[in-house]
Amino acid sequence: MVRYMPAQEETPQSEGLPGLPDPTFAGGKRAITTDPVVGSPDRTYPEVFVPGEEELEDGELRVTVLGSGNPWVTRAQASGSILVEVGNRERDLLIFDLGTGSLANFASLKLPVNALDKVFITHLHADHIADLITLFGSYRKSGRVDRGVKVWGPSGSEERLGTKHFVEAIREACQWDSDSTRSIHAAESFDLSVDEFDYSQTQVIYEENGVTISSFPVIHALSGAVGYRIDFAGLSFVHSGDTRPGWPLVRACEGSTIDLLIHECFPPAQAIATSMDMPVERAEVVLNQAHTSPRGAGKVFDLVKPRMAGLWHTVVTPAGTPLIFDELRKVYEGPVVQTQDLTVFNLTREAVVVRQAEVEAQPRPVPGTPRSEPKARPPAQPDWWEDALIPLDDVNSLP
Ligand SMILES: [Zn+2]
Ligand SMILES: [Zn+2]
Repeated sequence: MVRYMPAQEETPQSEGLPGLPDPTFAGGKRAITTDPVVGSPDRTYPEVFVPGEEELEDGELRVTVLGSGNPWVTRAQASGSILVEVGNRERDLLIFDLGTGSLANFASLKLPVNALDKVFITHLHADHIADLITLFGSYRKSGRVDRGVKVWGPSGSEERLGTKHFVEAIREACQWDSDSTRSIHAAESFDLSVDEFDYSQTQVIYEENGVTISSFPVIHALSGAVGYRIDFAGLSFVHSGDTRPGWPLVRACEGSTIDLLIHECFPPAQAIATSMDMPVERAEVVLNQAHTSPRGAGKVFDLVKPRMAGLWHTVVTPAGTPLIFDELRKVYEGPVVQTQDLTVFNLTREAVVVRQAEVEAQPRPVPGTPRSEPKARPPAQPDWWEDALIPLDDVNSLP
């Protein structure tokens, strides 16, 4: 077991809050929050979430953070991605962003690969979309045998900055990967379709199997970034994507209680400067031009008053987390979770419960139920391979 090394000297120190667990990469096992349960659950939840051992119940939403981190992807934190499992008849899997490394965390959840085909993009920063190639290409080889990938995402201020342009370019760029396996997979699994919607409107962009998803514009870097509201069976989950604090999100939360609001949050500028080794002036630009401070997130939570709030897209460190909570607590008192990779929220009418998942390092893919059998025809071999291949008859014939 690797012991966590204490924070470096120059990291700003804080008195912190008593009772905040360590991050899982530092040996912690619980979600980073002082309020793991809101409401009165009608069943008993084990202390940790073990994939494969807990059925999703009818009418429930399970929200799992696949990637909680930044563009600087590490073994501790994948880049941005959130999975929603829907307790409808279809047991839909909806994935919001596909940051680098997020599918490695998906793999640890032991969910059917063949069911992961719906992707909702908040914006086109690389730390939110880089695993789309993995989902499109590699997941076809790992069990997505009879369906393509469908992507929903915002337009940009011009065509070349929109989701449609991006997704079609990815499909074109993956020709070699696709052609290499065309003979052994169903034709549908090579589909990569895109549904681009107007970034500037608050509107319903998806309605299927009892799930309604609305998008709303957010303020981040360029025009063309959005957040999402997901409604199912009287439950509401809102995800900010990357943003500065903005009114469209607050307005999109009106009308009913929001069960879970996950909002992005960067540490205070001094902590960013220290952890990223950059001048504090530059850290202030990063924070204030494109992102949300802990106090800013606290202000949004105070306006929305969700049952449970989550901070996301934060560099999580044992020393930095208390600093963030100290700042946020100056403006907001409600239940807040500092999300990490594999933080799991169970949303029911009775309660919102948050835990960490305890996962295996190398799970096998769970293929799910295909609608058709995969083909088993080897692809045609190029002529020149015959002379280039080293014959193996002698070694293969050995006992
Ligand atoms: Zn971004
Ligand atoms: Zn981002």
